[in-house]
Amino acid sequence: MKVHFNQPYFAGEEIQNIINGALTGQISGDGVFTKKVHAFFRERYQVKKNLMTTSCSDALEMAALLSEVGPGDEVIVPSFTFMSTANAFVLRGAKIVFADVMEDVPNIDVDSLEELITENTRVIVVVHYAGMACDMDKVMALADKYNLFVVEDAAHAVESTYKGKQLGTIGHFGTFSFHETKNVICGEGGLLLINDDRFLNRSEIIWEKGTNRAAFHRGEVDKYQWVDVGSSFLPSDMLAAILYSQLSKIDLIQKLRLNVWMRYYDHLKPLEDKGLFKLPEIPSYASNNGHMFYLVTGTPEERDKLLGHLNTHGVQAVIHYLPLHSSKYYHDKHDGRELPNTDRFAGCLIRLPFFNVLKEDQIDYVVEKIRAFYS
Ligand SMILES: *Cc1c(COP(=O)(O)O)cnc(C)c1O
Repeated sequence: MKVHFNQPYFAGEEIQNIINGALTGQISGDGVFTKKVHAFFRERYQVKKNLMTTSCSDALEMAALLSEVGPGDEVIVPSFTFMSTANAFVLRGAKIVFADVMEDVPNIDVDSLEELITENTRVIVVVHYAGMACDMDKVMALADKYNLFVVEDAAHAVESTYKGKQLGTIGHFGTFSFHETKNVICGEGGLLLINDDRFLNRSEIIWEKGTNRAAFHRGEVDKYQWVDVGSSFLPSDMLAAILYSQLSKIDLIQKLRLNVWMRYYDHLKPLEDKGLFKLPEIPSYASNNGHMFYLVTGTPEERDKLLGHLNTHGVQAVIHYLPLHSSKYYHDKHDGRELPNTDRFAGCLIRLPFFNVLKEDQIDYVVEKIRAFYS
């Protein structure tokens, strides 16, 4: 049996939406389906403003532009994340101060943040790993105390909550990814959630290449022109058409994913109870959006052996992030602090095959191969 790591899922209306969108005569950005996507998140999450982007990386770059960070400024970012989380701020010339993650949850260690804050700190970026919320009350309290912006990289975290509040809507900015490995997808795509009134106007200007075209389309100005910096952050309406099909089925998608998650969990729990490895521990303030399933082995050597065993048997299990603080690009810019929990998760974490229509017998096969490895 071969079990792929990911398999893109089609909710059903993607092609028809593309055709319908094209028939409106506008396939560029900010067309009918982009507006439907924006309305979806505005209503479902009560978010002040949201803008679809060509990727989560782009949404992070917009957040970096809107925070007005530059050379001399510091941005606190977990080291255990995708490079875009940090790169967006590096592009603005900011210095990245890498934070460690917690011992039992691969989310930024909020209690270690205060000692990383200096007079140059401007932004804290948190990543809700595997869709599990960071402790946002503590993060927002620090941001208040030191007058910082908070960006939630919620690339994994659509449909997940912190104390009942939707992730991405708590910090000043939130970002989603619709890359084909995420919960709802359009190939490449993202979303910026803007939760602070100060950025409502400027965000749509930056989105539209530094012009007031969005206001022009609403009839608020009689010609559009260059009014600020920006870039081409808005995707073709064809991508929004694909995404909207997925959003229309989001409850079904979430149900499918949570079923996969629970089956892995129930079947692997007895092995965890024997002390063989650790399964995800969801903090009491967090919810589970079935974004991924991982386990953490005792040592990196064991992880690599288990990975090799699974791969040999056709199970496309994979590792996850390599620490950014020791990456080829950043290691000589890092201040030298050790981040032991980051290193441990990087060395010991395995992600199991996970997608909406992963079949029960495929899950059972993966579990069986894990059990065989340990016996
Ligand atoms: C996937 C991912 C991104 C980047 O998303 P893109 O849409 O591919 O740009 C950023 N941060 C995290 C944590 C991610 O998992």
